[in-house]
Amino acid sequence: MLAAAGAWTAAAGAQQQTPLPQPEATEIWQPVPAVVIPGETAGAPPSDAIALFDGKNEDEWVSAQDHTPARWTVADGLLTVAKNTGNIETRRHFHDYQLHIEWRIPADIAGSGQGRGNSGVFLASTGPGDAGYELQVLDGYKNPTYVNGMVGSIYKQSIPLVNAARRPGEWQTYDVVWTTPRFNADGSLKTPAYVTVFLNGVLVEDHFQLKGQTLYRGQPFYQAFDGAAIKLQAHGDKSAPISFRNIWVRELP
Ligand code: MG
Repeated sequence: MLAAAGAWTAAAGAQQQTPLPQPEATEIWQPVPAVVIPGETAGAPPSDAIALFDGKNEDEWVSAQDHTPARWTVADGLLTVAKNTGNIETRRHFHDYQLHIEWRIPADIAGSGQGRGNSGVFLASTGPGDAGYELQVLDGYKNPTYVNGMVGSIYKQSIPLVNAARRPGEWQTYDVVWTTPRFNADGSLKTPAYVTVFLNGVLVEDHFQLKGQTLYRGQPFYQAFDGAAIKLQAHGDKSAPISFRNIWVRELP
């Protein structure tokens, strides 16, 4: 017993004599991150954001069908879906980004399920119509539907972690971090798309790995692209059109 105790003491003594590295050895000083001035209020764009809609005009948007200027309704600082003119998308293309977008289902919304306040934010538009990667916009207040198509879902791929929807008539927010999929020269997938989404400040998608484009029918798959527009959906449901405001994006390095 005595010998064992002596060995233990010797080992502890050796440990104490090993000098710790200087604290400076683990301090990193370069590169210095760029200074970004945060928005003054919650949801306000920071200084390095690109305003995609600031209430004045829809100059940053074009028809997803033919790339002519967007013809949704701009009034009272809001961008409201004009269903007969189809989907709109950004003139600019993006890779990885942070997106903030606010939207409102009309208070007098009618219909049910997928026919009740349906729109969508396509985080990457890969063609006209609904081609791309859709983050669903839908009335989620007492409006049952398939859960991988409810508000906060990546359409038909992910079930949101929770239902954080507000009532129709109230403004809601999406804050999104999008990592674009990347492809090899032969078109095969190199790295998949990932998305993190907060709905009204509540985490609903936690670094979700996408299986490919979001499809109405069939299983998702990837098709190569390099940079894409962000698209908003003019859904063909018969319920009253929803409105958007305060849309901004920060392209990530
Ligand atoms: Mg939709």
